[in-house]
Amino acid sequence: MSPNQSFDRTKASTLFSLKRLNSYKNNYEANTTSHSNSIDFIAPNGRSTDFVLSTPFVKGCPLACSYCYVTRKNYSFNQNYKPFPSNPINVSTNVDSMITAIKTFVDQLPPKKIPNQCHPVYYSLDIGEYTDMLSPDFINLTNYLIQHLVPYKHLSTSFASKISTPSHIKRLIDCPVPYKARIRASISPQWVINQTELGTSNVVDRLKGLNLAFDKGYEVHLNFSPMIITNSFKEDYTALMKLVRSLLSQDVLKQLKYEGIFLTHHRKLHMMNNQFFPTNSESLLWTPHNQELAENLRGNEKIRYIWSVRSRYISIFRNLISEYLPECTERYLF
Ligand code: SF4
Repeated sequence: MSPNQSFDRTKASTLFSLKRLNSYKNNYEANTTSHSNSIDFIAPNGRSTDFVLSTPFVKGCPLACSYCYVTRKNYSFNQNYKPFPSNPINVSTNVDSMITAIKTFVDQLPPKKIPNQCHPVYYSLDIGEYTDMLSPDFINLTNYLIQHLVPYKHLSTSFASKISTPSHIKRLIDCPVPYKARIRASISPQWVINQTELGTSNVVDRLKGLNLAFDKGYEVHLNFSPMIITNSFKEDYTALMKLVRSLLSQDVLKQLKYEGIFLTHHRKLHMMNNQFFPTNSESLLWTPHNQELAENLRGNEKIRYIWSVRSRYISIFRNLISEYLPECTERYLF
């Protein structure tokens, strides 16, 4: 599929509806593990946030991104016990005991003295690692978490979103302690979104919502993930950065930082996408001429861009940032 062609939206929306139906009717399970005396579900991270939850508030996503590791690990089985991508949604029902456990964990931490890439002042916790917390399905939970966690001592919360539109942001409470919670808007060139991120919002709306989020007291950052290398990478990201500059207010631009991760992929997900994903997203994700097999930190197999290629595109990207968004500081990029 060429960059200018649009995908078959009928097919896409059918898969999307089926996925939602499956998620909600058959797989809406509750995690009732008690965390009242346990903090072992809080794991150190150190990349975008200091900590993540290994047992999250929500696991599974109503959106459908073809590269998503949640989809790869979170599937259902058909009647022949063959896996198919459904990304079932599990919502914890013991939210209050989890909040108590998180607070107990924070009580044990001395105030943060050394700023790091996660946050200069507070310990940051990702509350949406395995879903999109701006989804209308979880917005009440998200507000509850923000209300109870953000004011607590030296804790801050963070989550990434692909639907940070004004209409979704409107439903968020005002940040109880201004700028102590962060929203990371995930953005990519629109034609890449069309081909890989079903059910998400368009990039213009994602950016417009950030002005409102900032007015409501949220720190807002950009998440350029995953960055997918295409023939038009440089032109696409030039246009994207110009779009960011044209849509974000001066106040938002002043506090803006970014994180970026180049695509990693997986053979299993590649096979599932070939079979089930309604757009030809694999033509973007599976490019053996510039990819290699590697291991992640946990020793599991992954596909990544070979280093010489990635390092060339990292330089291209950094040059574009310094030209078009010089005030936007890098938190990390790899
Ligand atoms: S929005 Fe995030 S969690 Fe949801 S499918 Fe896309 S990448 Fe996965």
